[in-house]
Amino acid sequence: MNENDPWDSERSAPAPLPRSLWASISPPAPETRRATQDARVDVAIIGGGYTGLSTAIHLRQTGANVAVVEAAEAGWGASGRNGGQVIPGLKIDPDEIEAFVGGECGRRLVAWAGSAPDMVFSLIKQHEIDCSPVRNGWIQPAYTKVSLEIVASRCRQWQERGAPVEMLDPAQLPDMLGTSKYVGAWMDRRGGSINPMAYSRGLARAALAAGAKIYTATPVQKLERQGAVWKVITPSATFTADHVVVATGAYCNDLVPGLKRTIIPTRIGEVATKPLSHNILAKILPGRQLASDWRRLLASFRITPDGRLMMGGSTATAGPETTKIRDSLHRAARDLFGHYGEFEWDFFWSGVFAVTPDKLPHLHEPHPHLIAALGCNGRGIAISTAMGKVLAERIRGASDEELVLPVSRLAPMHFYFLRRPVVDFLIKVKGVQDKFDRART
Ligand SMILES: Cc1cc2nc3c(=O)[nH]c(=O)nc-3n(C[C@H](O)[C@H](O)[C@H](O)COP(=O)(O)OP(=O)(O)OC[C@H]3O[C@@H](n4cnc5c(N)ncnc54)[C@H](O)[C@@H]3O)c2cc1C
Repeated sequence: MNENDPWDSERSAPAPLPRSLWASISPPAPETRRATQDARVDVAIIGGGYTGLSTAIHLRQTGANVAVVEAAEAGWGASGRNGGQVIPGLKIDPDEIEAFVGGECGRRLVAWAGSAPDMVFSLIKQHEIDCSPVRNGWIQPAYTKVSLEIVASRCRQWQERGAPVEMLDPAQLPDMLGTSKYVGAWMDRRGGSINPMAYSRGLARAALAAGAKIYTATPVQKLERQGAVWKVITPSATFTADHVVVATGAYCNDLVPGLKRTIIPTRIGEVATKPLSHNILAKILPGRQLASDWRRLLASFRITPDGRLMMGGSTATAGPETTKIRDSLHRAARDLFGHYGEFEWDFFWSGVFAVTPDKLPHLHEPHPHLIAALGCNGRGIAISTAMGKVLAERIRGASDEELVLPVSRLAPMHFYFLRRPVVDFLIKVKGVQDKFDRART
């Protein structure tokens, strides 16, 4: 079975969820079924992650007849596997985005990305989603002197735009983080944490309550343009739709020719300990902020709603192998928190997220009334949720000028078959650069 494929063709069944902490502690998914009858809809949305579900919720506000068609179950992809860190902004800094995109469009994009967590937390509130939201801020500590300059510049750029951010006093960091490995940090109060699988399932419940249909265990195998409509073909039913949204994230396949070659599906992992003692819980992130540090191979950490240390990042691959990822996360935990003793690990899982060459999320319209959105570059909780609203606006007729994200040409990467060795090589180089910077610090 292909690790990145939500549909197990050999068994003619959805691929199971990975054994993750989130799968074991989240409230059950709402009841949904496989599609068994052909249907006529205004909009067929392929993929039941944050992008697809948020699009459905926003489209229902104008009464569109919407079907979400998901190969496995809501949250099966990155949306149910991530670190639950709701982080404002994009992967690149505000000044760089404004220079790259230019003028008013750049400023709008920065403001949109900075406020994207607001949409997550307000949807949670509005739909009473039971996903353990905590909005106490996101801390980005610097592991080296080089990275301290970078985070200080990032903090300054957001301050200039009036965001609630600040540099933290280095002397207070050991008490705030529970480790003395960092040389400085900034905090962005717009960030927070959630249980990401519970959020996915809550969005699915909200979409159903708003009147959307959600079909699970229903892989879309083919898209066909017939006259003015699209045929969305699955093994058990065909949807006829005026519009199609492709919201398959990094799990995209060949439904839209060339789409999967616009991103590198990058595998990262998460580990979670057994529940920790009260003593240790009072030491690691006692303010219950979340943290992801600045290094080329970043480490992220947080305390989970059931009192575990969870760590993510640290290394990545474009292939299926996971042992190196797990071992690297255990090493990162020992490096930061080894002074509390050896941790007992309960969970390890992994998933893929979409990296784009320009590190920006992409909207593509390769055919009339067919729109694809992907490429959140690891910032997908907030950005994918916000992108759902943008997609709904486009379908309702928003012009290019009105859209906060530009619609760009679908540009498949050349030499895509080399992605695995190239990513492995880059990861090695980044690891060496991080070690070098640390040695200098
Ligand atoms: C391990 C990990 C940790 C991460 N940590 C964070 C974090 O802490 N903070 C953050 O902001 N972001 C994080 N991310 C990124 C974030 O999870 C993603 O950007 C976001 O979930 C993408 O949502 P999506 O809806 O676009 O895609 P997905 O959630 O991947 O959903 C795509 C869906 O499409 C379905 N699908 C695919 N093909 C078909 C088909 N042919 N027919 C029907 N359905 C199909 C899949 O089954 C899947 O459910 C992380 C990602 C990973 C993998």
